[in-house]
Amino acid sequence: MAEEKDLLASVSDISTDSEFFSPKPPGYQPGKTRYCFVMGTVMSGLGKGIFSSCLAKLMKDKGLKVAPIKLEGYLNIDSGTLNPFRHGEVFVLDDGMECDMDLGTYERMLNQDLSRANFATSGQIFSSVLHKERHGDYLGRDVQMIPHVTGEVKLRLRTLAMQSQADIVFVEIGGTVGDLENAYYIEAMRELAYEEGPGSSCFMALTYILEPKTLGEQKSKAAQLGIKQLMQLGIQPDIIACRATRPVNEAARQKISIYSNVPVDRVVSLPDSASIYMIPAMLRNGGLDFEVLKLLKLEDRINLRYERNAWARWCDFTDKIGTASKEINIGITGKYTSVRDSYASIINALEHAGIALGCNVRISWIDTTDIDSKNVQKYLAEVDGIIVPGGFGTRGAEGKIACIKYARENELPYLGICFGFQMAVIEFARNVCGLIKANSTEIDTNSDEPVIGILPEQKKIEGLGGNMRLGGYDVSLKPDTMAAKLYGNAESIRLRFRHRYEVDPHYIEKLEKAGLVFSGRAPDHPIMQIFELPDHPFFMGTQAHPCLISRPLRPEAMFVGLVAAGMRKKYPEHKMPGVIEIVREVCGQSTKKLW
Ligand code: GLN
Repeated sequence: MAEEKDLLASVSDISTDSEFFSPKPPGYQPGKTRYCFVMGTVMSGLGKGIFSSCLAKLMKDKGLKVAPIKLEGYLNIDSGTLNPFRHGEVFVLDDGMECDMDLGTYERMLNQDLSRANFATSGQIFSSVLHKERHGDYLGRDVQMIPHVTGEVKLRLRTLAMQSQADIVFVEIGGTVGDLENAYYIEAMRELAYEEGPGSSCFMALTYILEPKTLGEQKSKAAQLGIKQLMQLGIQPDIIACRATRPVNEAARQKISIYSNVPVDRVVSLPDSASIYMIPAMLRNGGLDFEVLKLLKLEDRINLRYERNAWARWCDFTDKIGTASKEINIGITGKYTSVRDSYASIINALEHAGIALGCNVRISWIDTTDIDSKNVQKYLAEVDGIIVPGGFGTRGAEGKIACIKYARENELPYLGICFGFQMAVIEFARNVCGLIKANSTEIDTNSDEPVIGILPEQKKIEGLGGNMRLGGYDVSLKPDTMAAKLYGNAESIRLRFRHRYEVDPHYIEKLEKAGLVFSGRAPDHPIMQIFELPDHPFFMGTQAHPCLISRPLRPEAMFVGLVAAGMRKKYPEHKMPGVIEIVREVCGQSTKKLW
């Protein structure tokens, strides 16, 4: 961190006389790292992050080092204060950065941990420029969008290149070409490509091919106009990826090629895909990986033997997609049930677990606002397990507690995540320990039995945006518990957190005496991080968000446990092994057949 700050602070080749202002981190070697810029045209929501991460994955599988970065136009410093209902889930990195959900896509696709160096917002860029201005770093110059703000963007990218030692930095620019707030990013890309020299950069534009039902044919005009807009900014795209519902036909690709000076081989069709994990193969079959290598003159850096193994491993995973012979139904309670993006990581983690177990996991979204102890059975009649996910505030909390009580009493597999962990502790305190007034101070500030309260160390930090316990922390596992066994008898694991409240340590003894086992704790604080109920088929909760670290090639143990328990419930006649055995089999990456 300190090192990163130093690099970002450097304004090495500033000169009061020259118009060339392009700060570089000391020791930066131009040409060592290449840059791929991914931009969207026509409309947002085309899946720039998915495209960029899939291409980066193909490059990583060839033995190249890759580093992605997402550039956001908004002025927030991070995504922590953004409403997931509008922006999708807040993804938390190991170093505590709260960022856009696309970073989750990169981590999953690349099977690589990212850091705050991989995420920039206009808020960060401007704040850094203003700080340098007050510090007198610009030596009497009037500070301008060009070259100073664009210079700051270039400094960010070069710093990432240097720190990561990447062969390729993948730069994804949020929003669409033409948005005022992203215009300076695009200008910075243009300048960077010019400064780094020919063969250093590759510009990729995503576009959309319309296919109106009334016409029944693919229309490329909107796509052409979008590309034209990019060219007006001085950028000649090298590759155009055409998103569409169906494969884009030759005629549409040819038209785009003529209007954009991009050879038709590099105007690629990117139709909708049932699973994003099939997209790397789609790009590879179209030869896009080698087009990029050629453009960036990187053919001599790749390792084909490495690629053979990496690709075989990936295909072992994708071959299983869509072949499940079993199906279970997991209910997820939540406030933002209408926006799937709010729960992207949970959906992904269930998908990873389901694919590994040969089981299709259907999700039923359950709005708990109207649920109470009398009608709860009706809501949960069809599910084979439930998740109460992370959340904030009071709405629907009592309904969630009613669902948890039902799960606990009826052997319904349960996984509580963060808020879901806290609600389960409240339920247990009320209905098993007899503390009928148990609550969280988040829900009732004056609760008589505040079993969940604000973290002592967080109390000191004032104001929103910055007072949560964030990022990766170690969790010590209690030997011989379900948690320890799920993680292969590890003494300690690392999970990611994002919370302000926790179990009040005063209640721990009472809860444990009544049968709740706290099987995961912070090593150096009395912070409860995982609980379980021994006499239940699967009843676990964690103060962490294990979904954030689930990867296609490394499904997360608690999610695999939930799905396995759901399968055992749904298919008792299959006489499946126990949950722990199944999880170890899948997460231990053994190839032995389970059933
Ligand atoms: N609102 C709870 C807290 O702040 C839970 C947070 C969450 O679920 N991410 O502790």
